[in-house]
Amino acid sequence: MSIEFQCKQCLSTLRVPSEHAGKQAKCPKCEFINMIPMSTTAPVDSANAGGTGNTFTQPPTDFSQPKSQTTDANPYQSTTAGGVPQYTVAHRGGLILALGIISLVGCNCFLVPGILAWILGASDLSKIKAGRMDPSGESLTRVGMILGIVSTGFYALMGLLYFAMAVASMAFDGGNF
Ligand SMILES: [Zn+2]
Repeated sequence: MSIEFQCKQCLSTLRVPSEHAGKQAKCPKCEFINMIPMSTTAPVDSANAGGTGNTFTQPPTDFSQPKSQTTDANPYQSTTAGGVPQYTVAHRGGLILALGIISLVGCNCFLVPGILAWILGASDLSKIKAGRMDPSGESLTRVGMILGIVSTGFYALMGLLYFAMAVASMAFDGGNF
């Protein structure tokens, strides 16, 4: 039978044979002189209880951790009973796909829907890849983003062509005149 108690200075758990109860013991960690109590005072891990009768000259080596430090679960990560992580951020795949379709078949007014689908899609895909967003929307998000890129490129090209034709015709008119 052994006695476990906490060092009054460094709070590590010390263990001595019970026949040394009431005597003084030097903490092997911080060398503080502790009074050995008559019985165990510190919370004892059941696996470490009932020592094999170590001699007092041998320094105690098993410092059991305080119980408060063993249960520090991450408060930001909630899990269901099945252990499947719950994503706090829902995907916006439907919205991004709609923006992509609108930009391609509808009026891509000032390229806004296409660029929106592109930017939102790129940012959401990186969040999904980092595990911060619901991955079930990955394909919707990707398709919407690609539609946005295609329509943005298409309409930007058309705009450039129109601009170039306007400039060319102006220059042509100027040269003719
Ligand atoms: Zn100590």
